[in-house]
Amino acid sequence: MTGEEAGRAPSAAALRVAHDVFGLSALRPGQAEVIAAAEGGRDVLFVAPTGSGKSVAYWVPALASPGLTLVVSPLIALMTDQVIRLRRAGVAAAAIHSQMEVGEQREALAAALDGRLRFLYVAPERLATPSFEERLAQLGVTRFVVDEAHCISSWGNDFRQEYRRLAGAVTACGRPPVTAVTATATPQVREDISRNLALRKPFTVVTGFVRIGLTLEVQRCRQGAEKLRAVARAVAEVPGRALVYCGRIRDCEETAVALRADGVAAAAYHGGLDGPVRSRVQTAFTEGGLRVVVATSAFGMGVDIPDIRQVIHRDFPACLEDYHQAAGRAGRDGLPARCLLLYNPADRGLQELFIAQSYPEREVVREVYRALLRAGRWDLPEPAGLVPNLDRRAVEASVRLLENAGALLPGGEVRRLTGAPVDFEERRRLREAALARLDQMMAYATSRECRHARIADYFGEQGVARSCSACDNCLSPRPAERPVPESAVRAALRGVARFDGHLGGTRLAAVLRGADSAWNRDRPWVRELDFFGALAGWEEAAVRELLVKLVERELVLRGHGERPTLGLAPAGRAVLRGEREVTVSIPGSSRASRPEGPPSSGHRAGRRPVATPAAVGSRAATGDQPEAPGQLRFELLRRWRLGLARAEARAAFTIFDDRTLREIAERDPGSVADLLQVHGVGAAKASRYGDAVIGVLRDTGRSADALPARPD
Ligand SMILES: [Zn+2]
Repeated sequence: MTGEEAGRAPSAAALRVAHDVFGLSALRPGQAEVIAAAEGGRDVLFVAPTGSGKSVAYWVPALASPGLTLVVSPLIALMTDQVIRLRRAGVAAAAIHSQMEVGEQREALAAALDGRLRFLYVAPERLATPSFEERLAQLGVTRFVVDEAHCISSWGNDFRQEYRRLAGAVTACGRPPVTAVTATATPQVREDISRNLALRKPFTVVTGFVRIGLTLEVQRCRQGAEKLRAVARAVAEVPGRALVYCGRIRDCEETAVALRADGVAAAAYHGGLDGPVRSRVQTAFTEGGLRVVVATSAFGMGVDIPDIRQVIHRDFPACLEDYHQAAGRAGRDGLPARCLLLYNPADRGLQELFIAQSYPEREVVREVYRALLRAGRWDLPEPAGLVPNLDRRAVEASVRLLENAGALLPGGEVRRLTGAPVDFEERRRLREAALARLDQMMAYATSRECRHARIADYFGEQGVARSCSACDNCLSPRPAERPVPESAVRAALRGVARFDGHLGGTRLAAVLRGADSAWNRDRPWVRELDFFGALAGWEEAAVRELLVKLVERELVLRGHGERPTLGLAPAGRAVLRGEREVTVSIPGSSRASRPEGPPSSGHRAGRRPVATPAAVGSRAATGDQPEAPGQLRFELLRRWRLGLARAEARAAFTIFDDRTLREIAERDPGSVADLLQVHGVGAAKASRYGDAVIGVLRDTGRSADALPARPD
């Protein structure tokens, strides 16, 4: 089997199956190529969003030839849904999972062994049981499909340990051709999938991430009441069904109440509600009794409502994968719909908190373990009560970790272990990956580029136009631009060339600005580079703007995925060699951008105005508010603490807790001696962190403009 299949069309038999069994008169982009490659016996990696026909792409080749297809799927709800759909189409399919009666499971397996099934769905943990592994060889599996394949990657947003054993299961089946499908895989994740499943030169298709029928918008707004008003306004602007996503249960409830007060038929949907209530809400929404559902991310799995006209995110999602998936529930019928993200820079803090809670650090896990050892048992009604100084979620996550590590036995006994029971290095990597994904989400929110193009870049979809007529950035008139001096352009290009493919925009901007960042401090040689500080006096946002322009002008290339680095494009190299001239302009009217500027001491809190395209819908002002200086200092101190905590791989609160940090921010001590007056600052901490804290406080004024940007 060679790469020939790539250009081939599906066989006549496959087209007949698509038409006769599934009622399809035409195949979607990507489907035809994937089907042809699978028919040719190739391994396939198919990345396309939910609702774009991934299942059909492996169903059709499976039915066009004889044999059994084994499908590994992580969610019972998804398995059940697929089996129902196949049976409705008259295809013999069954699932085996833990929520079935033992008798039913046995019957499904017997049917598969007798050759009475075409599809068998199983959960990944099932494959790992020795008895099942023996069965695999007898099943005569002709195709092996891995659904939600991103779960295999620790770079992904949904890593599952059981997925790591799938390569073994494929071998146990006699190594049939493997098809891996997923809705969310960045290039790093794709590489991981391919390596961990031991795919052989997989035929890879990434498609469907740009849905031009969806208008993408971001509105910056304050938290609290203003977000409620923005949601109400958006719901009023677009007729038809709307989904509103919130980060927390209480925000769901609050938003639903506010909408109902406006006379909108709205209800909340979240994990805190009983099953029957949830299904009543879902039914009412599907049947038209409710116009708006306000939900946590719990809503949407397996829900396919074609005519949702608007998806509003009241709170910032954890990553672009999550955002794209949730927003993509709009406009499934192909008619126009709107996806609105409300955002506030402080939202990042909430997500960081969630991440910290889900990936507790070594000290936290150790403290929980010690407390459980002292208590002698771990199956207590309230384990969080043992360590009242720790956050409940962090305690629960620690208990789960210790349980998986074998330190907590099923009977409730706590085992005394020697050595570290948990692989903290891996935990640290997972946490870092989650933070990197959050950075990318933040970059999307603040981006001035085409939002569709940005999403395509993230997922690595090729050949997408750099501008569109369906996002706020492309629809809104841009502020007046001013030319950037050629020397500045060349300095930026030299910087990109020097770190080719190794640095992202934030760090490179810090080098060009000659900023006193931790990264720069740790690498004294950076100061010797001729472009270090070449853009001193520029605001960070302006430097980032310049780098974005260089990407747009194809002088610089941006890598894909969670950690996009910058590299020099051939055109950029030509400029550096003096073979090509180039003029670049960046927005000059925005207070965040001062291309030729002297340091802008007079420009505090330089917030970028949010685009307000008339074509998209009317909108109120975007909530520029002066922040209390204490608050600003507090935020900057928190960033400093976060950076230090990450660098030293320790829990942030062990440096200073929030209360102490807040008091420092309020008092604004001018010296280490003054700092010692603050409650919670002892001599040891003052000598260790005093200078750094005073330094941060001194920088507050200077850094105010950079606050909305991410920390370095
Ligand atoms: Zn656009």
